[in-house]
Parts: sequence; C-alpha cells; structure tokens
Amino acid sequence: MKLHAIIFYSVVLAGSLMATPGVVDTTCSTFAKVQTVGLAEVCWTEGLWADRFELCRTQMVPSMARLMQGTNYSQFYFNFEILAGLAVGKSRGASFNDGDFYKLLEGASATLAVTNDARINVKLDEGIAVIAQAQATNGYLDTWVQLHQRSGDTNVAPFQNPENFEMYNFGQLMTAACVHYRVTGKTNFLAIARKAADFLCDEFKVPTPALANNLICPSHYMGIVELYRATGEPRYLDLAKKFMAMRELVKEGVDDNQDRVPFAQQNEAEGHAVRANYLYAGAADLFLETGDTNLWNPLGKIWTNVVTKKMYLTGGCGALYDGASPDGAKDQKHITRVHQAYGRNFQLPNTTAYNETCANIGNVFWNWRMFLVTGDAKFMDVVELALYNSVLSGGALDGTNFFYTNPLRVTDPMPLELRWSRTRVPFVSSFCCPPNLVRTIAESADYAYGKSADAVWVNLYGGSSLKTKLSNGETIQLAQETDYPWNGRVRIKIVACDTNEFSLKLRIPGWANGANVRINDSPADDSPKPESYFEIRRVWRSGDFVDLDLPMPARLMEANPLVEEDLNQVAVQRGPVVYCLESPDLPAGVRISCVRIPPDLKLTPRFDRHLLDGVVVLEGKALAQPDENWSGKLYRDFQPAEFKPVSVKFIPYSVWQNRGPSEMSVWLPMN
Ligand SMILES: [Zn+2]
Repeated sequence: MKLHAIIFYSVVLAGSLMATPGVVDTTCSTFAKVQTVGLAEVCWTEGLWADRFELCRTQMVPSMARLMQGTNYSQFYFNFEILAGLAVGKSRGASFNDGDFYKLLEGASATLAVTNDARINVKLDEGIAVIAQAQATNGYLDTWVQLHQRSGDTNVAPFQNPENFEMYNFGQLMTAACVHYRVTGKTNFLAIARKAADFLCDEFKVPTPALANNLICPSHYMGIVELYRATGEPRYLDLAKKFMAMRELVKEGVDDNQDRVPFAQQNEAEGHAVRANYLYAGAADLFLETGDTNLWNPLGKIWTNVVTKKMYLTGGCGALYDGASPDGAKDQKHITRVHQAYGRNFQLPNTTAYNETCANIGNVFWNWRMFLVTGDAKFMDVVELALYNSVLSGGALDGTNFFYTNPLRVTDPMPLELRWSRTRVPFVSSFCCPPNLVRTIAESADYAYGKSADAVWVNLYGGSSLKTKLSNGETIQLAQETDYPWNGRVRIKIVACDTNEFSLKLRIPGWANGANVRINDSPADDSPKPESYFEIRRVWRSGDFVDLDLPMPARLMEANPLVEEDLNQVAVQRGPVVYCLESPDLPAGVRISCVRIPPDLKLTPRFDRHLLDGVVVLEGKALAQPDENWSGKLYRDFQPAEFKPVSVKFIPYSVWQNRGPSEMSVWLPMN
C-alpha cells in the first residue's frame, strides 16, 4: 500500500460519519432502487484507482488550474475576472469555456471529500467570489455573451444563438455547485447556482420555439435536477420538466441535437454523441424523480440500440467525425449533417472513430443513472467498461496531456488527415474533455458502492473503504482489498457494523463465468451468475470477510459480422480491460498492419510494475508477414504471404500512446 493510500484510509476511518450525499443524490428519489453513497463516505485506498485519484489530486487539478487561470491557450478564469471588473480585457476562447471551468471546480471540490486540503478550499472560495461578482443582478451568467455585449456587439444577446452553449454552461455550474456544497457544506457556490436557476425559471416562464432552440448539449437536465435534490426547491424540478417538454417546440429539429423526433418517440441513439448521452443521462435523472414512462420507454430502447449496435468494444460512443443522419433514409428531406456523432447501426470504424472522451464519460453518467433506477448489473457493466477503457484513455499518465478523440486504430501514415491530434496534447480549442476527465476521476470512488434500505451494493472493484449508514439505521464500515483489474480476487472485510441483518450485494460482471464466493472461508450456498448482483444476506459481525473470485482469462473477442470494419478480426479483453497492440511492443521491422492472430493464440498475463505505471501485459506468439509497399496501389492480384512467428505483447488500451507517437490497433486480423 502506498503512503497516500494509508493517509486516505486513516482519514476516512478516523473521521466521523459524514452524511454528505454523492455526486448524484438519490436519497429522496421516488423512483430510485439504489441510493448513492456520500462523496466523503468512500475512498480508494490502493491500486489502479487510488493511483489515478492521486494523479488527479496532485497533478491534474493543479496543472489544469494553472492552465485555466492563465491566458496562454485561452481564457477561462480571466473571462470571469474581466466580467467582475477585476481585470481589463476582452472575452476570448470558446463560448463553452465557462462550463469547462466549472468542471474543474467540481473536480477540485470532489477531491476535498477525501483530503480536505485547506489550500484548495481557499482557492475555490476565491474563484467562487469572482464568479459571484461576475453574475448579473438578475442571475444571468455567461461570460462569452456578457463580455461580447459589453464590448458593443449588438449581434449578441442571451439565448439568441444555441451555439453560445449557455444552457451547457448553466448546467455545469449547477452540478459543480451541488458537489461543492455537498463536500464543503458551504453555500457560496450553491447561491450562485440558485440565482442562475431562478433566472431561468423566470426567463423560460413562457416557452417559445426560439427559446427551445437553446436546449442543446444538455448538461442542464442533470444540473437542474441535482439542484432540486440539493435544495428541495420544487420549482427547479418543474423547470427540468419544462425543459424536457419544450423540446417538442423546436421547429426544424435535427438529429445532431436529438430534437428532430419527439423524445418519447425516439428509439435509436442519433447525432452528436456528447449531446445525446447528456440528454439520456438527464432524462434518466428526471425519471428518477418523476417516474414518467415517456422518459423511461425511449431510454430503454435507445440503450439497447447503443449496446447492441452502436457502442465500441471500449465503451466508446460516437463513430463519426462528420456524417449525415438519418443516413441512407428513404425520407431524404429529413437528412441533415451531424458531427462528432453516433453513426448508423453497426457503423463502427476504428481509425476514424470519434469516441470523444466527453461522450464516453456521458455514457458513464447515463448508465449510472439507469442503474440507480433499476439496480440492474448490466448498466454497471457499461459504467465499468467505459471507465477502464475509453474514459481513462482520455488522459496521459503524466496527468497533463489529453485525447479529444479515442480511436481504436492509429497507423503511420494515416489513410487521411483528421481534425484532431493522434497524440495526446495539453490543449485543444475544444477543451471540454480534460476537465471532464478530472471531475470523473475525482468522483470515481462514488460509483464503487450503492445502498438500499438494508443492503450495500458493491458496484466496482478496487482497493477502497466505505463507511456509510443505511436507512434502517445500520452503520457499516467495509474495506475492499484487491489488485483488480489486474486479477479477479477481491476480499471485502466487514470492519464494523451494528447487529442488524443486512445484505451485501456483489456485482458479478457479464464476462465473469465461473465466479466463486466464500464467506469466512466457507463456500457460499449459491453460485454467482454473470451480469447480476449476488446477494449475501445475514447478520454480519465485525471481522467477517467475503472472498470473491472472478476468473479473468484473456479472451479473444469478435464483432457482429454486420460491423464491416471488424470482419475477420479479433480483439483481446481480460476482465473489464480491453487490450491493444502498440508499435513499441513489436520487434523492429514489424508494423501493426503486418500482424496476424492465430485462432489458438495463447496469452500469458504478467504484471509489469515498471511499464506504464504498472499494468498487466498479455504476452504470446502471433504471426507477421513482411512489410510491403502499397504506395500508389489500391488493388492487386492476391499474393500469398509468408508468415513468421512473432512475439507480441498486448497492453491495456487506456495507456497506449504514453511512449511517444506510435501505431496501435485494438482489432487485428485473424490468420
Ligand atoms: Zn469533450
């Protein structure tokens, strides 16, 4: 156990039980089957997630704070300072920079739940004071719009142009303020969010089609519903309902914004994948409070569409840089341009996969809320899949470089030049993903557990501790010890509990065939089934322990044959971790495109603590053909190749491109 883990562990164990809610608070949600645990009730103690949290706290948050306070790349904090009258200058940067700055504040706030770092606390208060000073007296707050107006730009006014992303900025403000309030107990940030929400209640009192156009990139459903939960103010829930109903007022809606078809009639994921997943997450949030079947029915259909036809093996969402939707439709007049978007069914290109980090994080948000409604393990499987693969891949191991897109294959040269970099970079003009990754890692422990009246749900495996109280009054303290995801052995210790009976529910992932559970060294009565929660109900005593063994062989995966891009190819997955082959791990002269996988490929797992901050690699023998010059040729007569054995080493997809520019592929052709 690393030193920081021991410190975290002692903080949580020594601290008194804080009744702070989680990022999403379903304590009073009528239609929630599972309640979230408090941000301060849980923390990672050792292993991959503890390391990532520590990287986030010590590297990602401070370096991003420097970037956003500075003006080298763009303006984030400085725009607020100008608006507050504390600095002189003009608005600079993307119209959604405010929202991305709020995400950083949210992430920094979330780290306080574990470390209570006084300096961060003070810094946050300073920033929040400037935001408060920048907010208009009527509650409106959007530095891009306000500063452009102030500089005399008569073309700019509130809610005139959806591309100003005001609702996105408001939504991120509300979510960040709720997290800050829950962690610190302070109401300074929350007061700004309330003032903004009160403004929106007034501004949107009479819904119009023009106002409805602004409901794009909708972080605002999650934000406003959370503000309702944090304040208990019913008009905020009414506002969220109104915003959902208003979508139908949009004239000439488009799939890119998911408003061509009324939400209740949607059954496929369409359009911009971040906007889509945020909408689905927000609709699920609203369902948790209202039980409105006009939200739940489409969500179920869209979810099935995504996981059976549109999601990458990595949990990534959004196949297309640019495209058309509904592509190939008989109804030609409805076809419109989409970007950064879900593609057609089974359209999952690898090299040009968009898979924006924000969309993959949105997939986590959405599935987390679907799980909270149902307690169904299939949703947590997607949360876990996305977190380990297409979310973590968004950041470098140095904590300061980021991917905007997460393709499954990169070659050199590429078949075409793409808009975004094939290597991680410190900054992109669309700086939405990096702070999103910061807050997601900072809050990741919150997904690990859930609770219901007399049960603790163990959703994610990783060295962690939990101290929480069930609604039946039972106080429970657990410690989880494991090297997961590097092996499937997990021990959960009951550190302390009262004398009441309660259930421990262990998630058995869909891939975990042959899972085994032992309680105090004795076999459990039943065998766990994949893609379900295994319930152990008994009167627990301090010192009891449960051992879960999830067999984790390296598996060769294949795709539905309708996915043209994966025909006759296989990928490697072990537990929740998707692997890839990267050029630094191939012998000299062997290119990624030369490698062929024999159907009887044997892969041996080996933990390499010195590689990529410590990962399990999978080693074996594949085949390689000589590298050939295809320059200037599209086709030729078939020429049988001479294959030679070649040693291959697969690494987790999420850590590729941490050793300089490289070639990489998740899917590889069969021999
Ligand atoms: Zn993004």
